[in-house]
Order: sequence, then C-alpha cells, then structure tokens
Amino acid sequence: DTKQIKPPLTIKLCAPRGFCAGVDRAIQIVELALEKYGRPVYVRHEIVHNKFVVDGLKAKGAVFVEELSEIPADDAGRPVIFSAHGVPKSVPEDAEARNMFFLDATCPLVSKVHKEAQIHDRRDREVLLIGHAGHPEVIGTMGQLPAGTVALIETEEDARKFQPKSDRSLAYITQTTLSVDDTAGIVAVLQERFPDIVAPHKEDICYATTNRQEAVKHVAPDVDAMVVVGAPNSSNSQRLREVAERAGCKVAVLIQRASDIEWPDFEDARSLGLTAGASAPETLVEEIIDAFSTRFEVIVETVRTAEETISFNLPRELRDVVSTPQ
Ligand code: SF4
Repeated sequence: DTKQIKPPLTIKLCAPRGFCAGVDRAIQIVELALEKYGRPVYVRHEIVHNKFVVDGLKAKGAVFVEELSEIPADDAGRPVIFSAHGVPKSVPEDAEARNMFFLDATCPLVSKVHKEAQIHDRRDREVLLIGHAGHPEVIGTMGQLPAGTVALIETEEDARKFQPKSDRSLAYITQTTLSVDDTAGIVAVLQERFPDIVAPHKEDICYATTNRQEAVKHVAPDVDAMVVVGAPNSSNSQRLREVAERAGCKVAVLIQRASDIEWPDFEDARSLGLTAGASAPETLVEEIIDAFSTRFEVIVETVRTAEETISFNLPRELRDVVSTPQ
C-alpha cells in the first residue's frame, strides 16, 4: 500500500526523427577508416554535433581536432576526416600542401550547396547565404568563394538592410538545417526587394530537416510538452525546439541525456512529444523513454508524417572495407 500509483503519460514519438543519411554516412566513414587504417584516425571538428557519438568514436581511436595544424607532424601520414558540416576550400588545399591523406565526410547535400555557390559566382552573380553566423556549415559554405564574396543573411532585418556590393545579378543559397518557416520569411523579403534574385533549383534546406520539422509541427498541438534530444550546438535540433514552441507547446526543451530532464517541467504533463535531431542516436531516445517510465505509466505511440529511404555512397577508399566479409 506504500506503492505509488504512477500517473499516465502518452509519449508521441515523432517519425522521422534522429539520424539522417548524411550523419549516418559520416559516422560510418570514421568507423570504416579506423577498421581499414587502424588508430589513430584524426577528425577535423566533431564529426556530427553529438557528444555521445564523438565519445564513442574517441573510445575506438578517433582523435578530434579543430584545425589540421593540431595534428602532430609524426602523424601527418595518418588519415584525417572532414566533418559532415563541410569545410572551406582552404582546408583540403592545406591538407594537400601538408601531404595529408584526407577523407571527406561532408554531407553530399552540403556539397550540393557548395557547388551552387561556385556556379553562381562563375555566372557572375553575387551570392547571399541565408544561415547562422559561426556555424561550421556556414563557415564552410562561405569559404567556397574568396573571403568577403558571400553576404551572410541571418534575419529578415538583414534581408531588408542588404545592399548589393556591385551591379552583378543576385542569387541566394541557404544552410541545410534552417527553420523552414523563418527561411520562407527571409526569402519573401529578398524576392520583394530583388524580384530577379536566383533561387536554388531544389531547396537547400535538406529533406531530413524538413521532415523532422514537419513531424514536430504535426505532433506539437496535441501534446502538453515536447522533448527534443540533441546537442545545444546542433542547428537542426535547436530549430526543432523552436518549431514545437511556436506550435504551442508551453514546455519545449532540448536535452542531451536523460540526466538533463528537469522533472518539475513535466509534473502536470499527460502527453509528451518526443523527437531527436539529425545527429542524435536512437539509444538516447530510448534512454529518455526509460527515464519517463520510472515516473509515469507510459504508453508510446509513433506518429509518422514521412517515409525516408535516402542513403549516400561512401568515399571510394572505404568501399572495399564494407564488402569484405566479417
Ligand atoms: Fe545532410 Fe541534412 Fe543530415 Fe545535414 S541534416 S547531414 S544536410 S542530410
């Protein structure tokens, strides 16, 4: 009779959630490189923005650095992998100059945006990049063209104030992990001011970002709170939290692990939305469900708003590792 009765809680699991094809490929590249070349394998920047993933790879022998110059001269022959977010052009150039062996884990959908920047420049268009200052993807995309060439637009206010540097025609590209709605607002301002501005053929915001935001939007109005599993420096995870908040969730939090849950926030919740950013592994989602199960009588329902089947090829150097029988 001292046994407490747990309150009921319906967890609506957003689908799709978690790993996208670009993250999956990037992690595989590090794992296969370790298998093929042994340790250490260097990785420039967090391969994907998730501490749990990074720590797991560190334990297997990956060494994370922010710049190539941090790699000891004795290890210059060891493989170095560029993260999924992409790198400025100067980085592979620098690696070549240092005779380094590098593998590029840049997501093919980020590389696509890099190519757009180059094509626009070649066609004599001034390039505007919609994105968040300081994010490694933005640094990488801006770094496809000489410094000072690409104009960064972060907000509608920036779009209203933007002054072209020349009389070249204009084109815009975007970061892949932006808020779909905020970006539409910024693009509307640009198109009103510059009706001839060239837009991407196909959205630069990637399918994974779009689908995860869509699922959150669908679930958010039906739940008391939303938990997004992801890292604070993960752009797409941050956006998922904002989408939930704007869709009316009074409690919308971004957490990395179950130990981050602030229980008083969920005291009165009877329904909870749960999703994960593109760099957050499913085991962390399970950990969160387990944590809620210790305090609530949990019922889990999956709410699926899209199917995802996309996957990307591995770099040529690593394809033989996959085909080797274990
Ligand atoms: Fe690629 Fe999109 Fe995943 Fe980024 S979020 S790695 S662009 S699929």
